[in-house]
Amino acid sequence: MRVLVAGGAGLIGSALCARLLERGDEVVCVDNLVTGSASNVAGLGGRAGFSWVEADVAAGVPVPGAFEAVINLACPASPADFGPLAREILDTGSRGVANLLEVARRDGARFLQASTSEVYGDPLVHPQPESYWGNVNPVGPRSVYDEAKRFGEALTMAYHRLYGVEVRIARIFNTYGPRMRPDDGRAVSNFVAQALRGEPLTVHGDGSQSRSFCYVDDQVGGLLALLGSGCSGPVNIGHDDERTMLEVATLVIELTGSRAGVRFVERTADDPVRRRPDLTLARRELGWEPTTPLSEGLARTVEWFRSRTDP
Ligand code: UDP
Repeated sequence: MRVLVAGGAGLIGSALCARLLERGDEVVCVDNLVTGSASNVAGLGGRAGFSWVEADVAAGVPVPGAFEAVINLACPASPADFGPLAREILDTGSRGVANLLEVARRDGARFLQASTSEVYGDPLVHPQPESYWGNVNPVGPRSVYDEAKRFGEALTMAYHRLYGVEVRIARIFNTYGPRMRPDDGRAVSNFVAQALRGEPLTVHGDGSQSRSFCYVDDQVGGLLALLGSGCSGPVNIGHDDERTMLEVATLVIELTGSRAGVRFVERTADDPVRRRPDLTLARRELGWEPTTPLSEGLARTVEWFRSRTDP
């Protein structure tokens, strides 16, 4: 297949590009490097069938077709970006998604939209099945991301209903692994970078809030299973091993041997209290489930951060 991967220089995108190339696909990556990094795809540069273009999909998609699949992972995704990159997030989540859907429509390509567990907001149903409509504050500090992603789902379904574009919607839950930005601002990258620098790990609030972290290779496996399936979704893709942030910080301290402990800091506004995907649909419809235990994925992530000169 000839596949367009928007946001291909990010954490998930770069791992996805590598996996597509391994299975023999031709990959064109588009990324504006706002949060992605050229170094993430530098290793793919020499591989047959890979090319990448620095461009903002909100302004247009300057790559000639035709494509058989369009995968849209383009969007800043760390809560730390929701303030400073608010307009970029809204642009990417609206014009960017529309431009990529137009490519899929033009080429008759299958379109996969990366949506998010953030569409569930601070969920009142736990764990979260795809049938839950969510609890999102439409004017809160997270709203630029949450509402952009909800809009992206609506736009994707509109193209499906209006023009018959074959679509797939993945609701991605917290994903981590090698090639995360050390200054990304998220829990795993902060904890690992802080531990390796010998600084205390910044736990927000009392650390009792929970997330379910999915290793990047598992995430990519889920996305490819969805792309190849007959299921348009939305489908939750993530891990259902739910942990408190204090547990995750403790695990990182154990893995790194850090002696600096934790520092409790103020919790951010509208931070979801708990989050865990109901994976029934993914297991049944995609025959897929995550297999990497958190301790193993974190160990690989720590190793990657260690191998960098400046964690
Ligand atoms: N968090 C934390 N310390 C940090 C960064 C994040 O305790 O240095 C918490 C954050 O408040 C949230 C959880 O970890 O409850 C996950 O945050 P992250 O930014 O990784 O992802 P998201 O909020 O998008 O799920």
